[in-house]
Amino acid sequence: TSFGFREVPREEKQGLVRGVFDRSARRYDLMNDVMSLGIHRVWKDITITRARPKPGERLIDVAGGTGDLARAFIERSRRPGEKPATAIVADINEEMLRAGIKRGQADGIEWAVANAECLPFDDRSADCVMIGFGIRNVTERMQALREMHRVLKPGGRFLCLEFSRPVTRAVANIYDLWSFKAIPELGALIAKDRDSYQYLVESIRRFPHQEAFAAELREAGFGEVKVTNLSGGIAALHTGWRT
Ligand code: SAM
Repeated sequence: TSFGFREVPREEKQGLVRGVFDRSARRYDLMNDVMSLGIHRVWKDITITRARPKPGERLIDVAGGTGDLARAFIERSRRPGEKPATAIVADINEEMLRAGIKRGQADGIEWAVANAECLPFDDRSADCVMIGFGIRNVTERMQALREMHRVLKPGGRFLCLEFSRPVTRAVANIYDLWSFKAIPELGALIAKDRDSYQYLVESIRRFPHQEAFAAELREAGFGEVKVTNLSGGIAALHTGWRT
């Protein structure tokens, strides 16, 4: 389906992305629950299961925001008598990191202000790299994918959770109603920011569909790229390895 959205110029895109997360950092966790009807928790849980966290591992959670994925990764890595995993939550927006620190439960987490396009981490330094609902906002997507590949150890796992394309007409119809009608209204009501939430909805439609994004991951160097549709393709989990 073509929705005929205009291309957003680079500076405007970066400004809008920053605006969305600056204005709503504190309400961010609430909005996630409201907009996804709590389903983002299930999607994140599936992502962590697929990441198979182990004691002592090092995760980099790119565009990690308030650190949901990093916390869950560390918790899931716990085994009696062994040192749990550690994580770096890297995000371009300091306010998101601050909101995450405030939330507590941050043992084993380091917080780093960093752009996904230029990660301040060594080559081959992470056992696992993930990005949840973040890649869509990155301007130079291929550069960010190459960076995430670079910091992974050979044999390390990459996971990307992102909104995607509904795979059936029925799911698409319900989803269109929810995202085009309800989400901008809820954004106006809860975050007092209709435009930014309208922009979020539109950015989801502009993001490449499942197979096109999988092809980008292969181009960035990832091996054994697989796609798992979540909730009928409303979101998708892309996984790959550094071979
Ligand atoms: N991963 C978290 C989660 O799933 O709850 C946060 C997702 S939030 C929707 C998107 C995050 O991407 C925001 O915290 C935003 O600041 C961050 N972000 C946007 N562009 C970025 C970039 N170029 N580099 C790093 N982080 C970025």
